[in-house]
Formats: sequence, structure tokens, C-alpha cells
Amino acid sequence: MIAVSKTKPVSDILAAYDQGQRDFGENYVQEFIEKQPQLPTDIRWHFIGHLQTNKVKYIAPFVHLIHGVDSDRLLKEINKQGEKLNRRIACLLQVHISNEETKFGLDEFELMNIVHEHLLSTSPALLPWVEVQGLMGMASFSNDETLIQSEFHQLKKLFDHISALPYLQTPFTKLSMGMSGDYPLAISCGSNMIRVGSLIFGERNHK
Ligand SMILES: *Cc1c(COP(=O)(O)O)cnc(C)c1O
Repeated sequence: MIAVSKTKPVSDILAAYDQGQRDFGENYVQEFIEKQPQLPTDIRWHFIGHLQTNKVKYIAPFVHLIHGVDSDRLLKEINKQGEKLNRRIACLLQVHISNEETKFGLDEFELMNIVHEHLLSTSPALLPWVEVQGLMGMASFSNDETLIQSEFHQLKKLFDHISALPYLQTPFTKLSMGMSGDYPLAISCGSNMIRVGSLIFGERNHK
């Protein structure tokens, strides 16, 4: 479980840390780089927001896992920053599973293009400084459990499909899906990484 601490103060993060929590998630680069140096170095920092290509360099030195990789261009930039730092950077590809226009993510076609182009040992353009470990997705913001479940199932199916491909460079082990409102459903659909914010830290005032 990743404790999503976006918009919350360092003191809230420390309180959860003192209870043993080590995985934290942030969404905004500026906020992330302000908080990170103030906190213990054994925290595993997950970047779960939309990442702009020109901001990768700010988080590349310390990020544990980037969840929202949603373009070929972004993946290549992460690879470039990893090479500069001599550090392999772990990522998840974000898939668009909701029926909402606004949520980021790859469609199935774009996803499979990236897999074939970069992630198989037979791929024409291997990216040695990124380690793509799985998929991430966000279901529709809805009370319709049947809809949410079908979206999670869709992501799990893609995850299983890619996991089973021969010649995959890095094994697919992480399926990041589920938030405060839908994590039990996500787990029942095969999630092994949930991102929980408001249920831990309370409602956010903005963002
Ligand atoms: C904010 C956020 C979360 C946590 O949301 P809650 O509903 O507060 O649990 C999880 N994932 C992403 C990508 C987010 O932006």
C-alpha cells in the first residue's frame, strides 16, 4: 500500500512513517522535491501523477517508482536521465481504462506498441536505463461497481497478457490499481499495489 501524501504536510508523512509506513506517493513535482529532502532517506517515493518530460530530471535521482508513464517520449526521457545518473529507474505504464476524457494513459494500441518497440529482448529500441515493472490505471470516478470492476478486469487482462510474453526484459510484477474509494474491488480484480490518500490522511482541501 502506498500512502498518497499529496497536499499534506511533512508532519503528516512523519506520523505515518512512525507507524511503519515506508511507501509514499506524490503527484506534483514541485511539492515532491520540496518535501523529499525533509524526510527520512529510507522512504520509497512513488511518483503517481502526470509527469511532464521536462520535469523528469528533478525526480530521477531519488524516485523509487514512476507510476504514470503514458508516452514513448516520456519513457525515453526517463531512460536518458537514468543513464546520466547511472541509475536504472523503475516505471509502470499507465493505461487509460476509465470512460473519462481527462484521465491520462495509453490506449491498448499505444501500450502494445511500447511493449514491442522497447520492452522485449528482441525489441529494436531497448531502453537499458528504465525498468518497466508493470501497469497502472485509474477506474472511472463513479458509484457504478459493475463499471469499475470491468475497467479493473480490463487492466488485469492486459497485465496478464504482457506478463506472459516471451522475451520480456523485465518481468511484469506490479499492477497498481485502486484508491480510497475502490481499493477492495481493485484487490479482488488482481491489484497488488494500491494508492490510498484520503482514507489515511483525511480529505484534501484542493487538487
Ligand atoms: C490522489 C491520487 C490517489 C489517492 O486518492 P484517494 O482517493 O485520496 O485515495 C491515487 N492515485 C492517484 C493517481 C492519485 O492522483
